[in-house]
Amino acid sequence: MKSLAYNTKHGKTHVKCGVKKDLSNIQISDKDWHDPLDKMQIAIFMQSGGYAPYWSGFGHVRNGSKHQGVDLFAEPGTRVYACLEGIVYSMSELKGYGKTIILEITSNTAINILKKRKETINYKLLYPKIKHTVNNSIIDGEQAFGPNYDENSNVFYIYYAHLDKYATDISVGSKVKVGDIIGATGTTGIDETKSKHKGPHLHFEITTQIAKGLTGRVNPSFFIQYDIPTNTKYTYNSCVDYTIIKKNINDYLPIYSKQLEYRENN
Ligand SMILES: [Zn+2]
Repeated sequence: MKSLAYNTKHGKTHVKCGVKKDLSNIQISDKDWHDPLDKMQIAIFMQSGGYAPYWSGFGHVRNGSKHQGVDLFAEPGTRVYACLEGIVYSMSELKGYGKTIILEITSNTAINILKKRKETINYKLLYPKIKHTVNNSIIDGEQAFGPNYDENSNVFYIYYAHLDKYATDISVGSKVKVGDIIGATGTTGIDETKSKHKGPHLHFEITTQIAKGLTGRVNPSFFIQYDIPTNTKYTYNSCVDYTIIKKNINDYLPIYSKQLEYRENN
């Protein structure tokens, strides 16, 4: 279990929309939230093997195209957890998402934990500007949230996509508790005619609406605790050069060695 205490000294995250609730009297412990995976790292390689950590971030990170969640590296078959208490809203095969579980979060307690978590993690956008891979122009990349995101919503939905399996003890309408295993990661929903599996991952979203595109969505990186220091800075320059990450792996990011293995062997 991880402690959240060490991040609190950085202060509060300020959000531009909505009325901010006073959360100062809410205490959260590590039992109140479970990250979606045991090991949390951004997928640094695309399915095709290209090195592009920003491609896994939230926002207009794909040469200006949208990415509604974050891609978390996961070897196929990795356990997936309910982050908060909620209800299984759907379990279905969605285009581009493959086997997907959506949890619906409505309890005040769970929603307050989510908000408190954002303050505690205090994530700062890593890739607000990226370099277009075709014309090399510098464009907007990672974003904090999409249109119509309401931080004071009384309902949140959590998406887990590209799953291989659903847990056998859940079905639509089931109640889940924090830390319940709800499935296993896979590569479903990925167009195999275009992509290989050099970057297997869980696609993970948090939204206040079941809607298309970035509508209602918030950057999930605000809520999850990565296994890398979140102050690791990759600029659009360092993002494009695979030799740099190789050097980083050897020098000070051995945590990515598994990803490198997948990239080399698939
Ligand atoms: Zn994704």
